[in-house]
Amino acid sequence: MNELWAYAVWAWQFVELRHVIDILLVAFLIYELLRLAHGTRAVQMGVGLLLVGLLYAFSSFLGLSTLQWVLRNVAVYVGFGVIVLFQQEIRAVLTRLGNNIRLPFSRQQQRARNPFGQEWYDEVVLAATTLASEKLGALIVFEREVGLKTLVESGIRLDARISYDLLVTIFNKNTTLHDGAVIISNNRVAAACCFLPLTQNPLVSRELGTRHRSAIGATEDSDAFAVIVSEETGAISFAIEGRLKRNLDGPGLRRRIQQAMEPWRSEKESEELELEEREREREIDELVTARKRERQATHRAKTEEVQEGST
Ligand code: ATP
Ligand code: MG
Repeated sequence: MNELWAYAVWAWQFVELRHVIDILLVAFLIYELLRLAHGTRAVQMGVGLLLVGLLYAFSSFLGLSTLQWVLRNVAVYVGFGVIVLFQQEIRAVLTRLGNNIRLPFSRQQQRARNPFGQEWYDEVVLAATTLASEKLGALIVFEREVGLKTLVESGIRLDARISYDLLVTIFNKNTTLHDGAVIISNNRVAAACCFLPLTQNPLVSRELGTRHRSAIGATEDSDAFAVIVSEETGAISFAIEGRLKRNLDGPGLRRRIQQAMEPWRSEKESEELELEEREREREIDELVTARKRERQATHRAKTEEVQEGST
């Protein structure tokens, strides 16, 4: 034990600050890589690579020179293969890295520009709930820091103000624009009919079709988020960072849009806003039901009057 301690003290004198920083940076990189790989196909591939490594160790232990030669030559191509196969993940890491560096400044600018949320949230929420109630499929992708120029270019350019009427009209089945995704950029409807990349994640539920898969794909390697309305079930979903939150109602969707657009808001503040929204929706519902009842009562009274007159 004493010997071990003495060795540690002896070794300590060679440690410099830059070594500590070096180790911390490598640890951070490995942690980020593992976090990124978690829950993706990278895990299965990592296991495959590990098996090949073990096979190489096994072949050198037993002196199987032919197998060793094959594995050594294959290793060169494996490097290229990993880059090609993981290009999406590599892109995601670099994008996230860039975002984390830029965000503190741009968030402050956004907060100054946009302190109370935006009117268009309501337009989008109302359009989504209307489309959902009529079981009309919709897919809307919202650009944030990372530009979506390539996706916009795959569709039909619009550059229009975001409005309930426009969104509902676009996703109406009788229009030529309803197929594909709408992309919102700089608080404007940039394009419709856009084609999005499908997710390659094998863990995505099999019951999800291409509309949901493309929404997940588009939010995987950028910081964009997406609102999806299912044509089959009428359910509203929200996709961000390659994850899907399903079965949302109006206030729930509004909260998620607001949180994504205004990341500086605390969880408590968002919750309060959602409750307020729910209360507002309840009041509107009550008003609509009361009006309906009123109209029915007047109608009934008028019919009775007419019947009495005729007898
Ligand atoms: P739903 O619940 O609405 O049926 P889904 O996830 O089951 O959605 P599909 O039924 O395959 O998906 O939906 C097909 C529609 O999704 C297409 O008509 C098209 O509008 C849209 N879509 C499919 N793939 C893409 C894509 N790659 N990019 C943009 N839109 C797409
Ligand atoms: Mg479907």
